[in-house]
Amino acid sequence: MPLSYRLDAEDRVVALGGAWNRMSWENGGPDDASSNVLDHSLWRFISDPAMSGFLRQVFQLSRDTGQAATLDYRCDAPGLLRYYRMIVTPKSDGILVVDHEPLAEALACTSIRLPPGESAVRICGQCSRVALKGWHWRRFPALPRPRDLPRKVVLCNDCRNPSRDPADASASTRP
Ligand SMILES: [Zn+2]
Repeated sequence: MPLSYRLDAEDRVVALGGAWNRMSWENGGPDDASSNVLDHSLWRFISDPAMSGFLRQVFQLSRDTGQAATLDYRCDAPGLLRYYRMIVTPKSDGILVVDHEPLAEALACTSIRLPPGESAVRICGQCSRVALKGWHWRRFPALPRPRDLPRKVVLCNDCRNPSRDPADASASTRP
């Protein structure tokens, strides 16, 4: 989901746009996060010194040159790998608008669990998708090691039926 915030010349968050509360909740935080962010310095929320130092440089450069800056980053939630693009747009009086656009997301292999009453997860031997609930197949960027999770190699419905384009199968892999 796209998110944005507006910073004044002192990097104080003066406006928010997008589903901040839902994002916070997905990340394991409170569901009323936006009220805790507004009117506070952005640096209060970025605890990693390397990250805040890097962002300060990006903001400074953008203010000095009047040019927008773009950087891609990863921001995971529990069980979910997420990639975002950050776009910093300078406005007048040192104001910056910072947009965060989702690029891609994928389920993490830690969200693969044994279905109740089964002794192994079913993994398609051809496309490597995993049957999560019944015969609902999802693709994961990585799979747990066999000794961590018992598995049974089978063929999914798409791979068993060669008349279907395997590319169609990827459409059902988004969360
Ligand atoms: Zn398959």
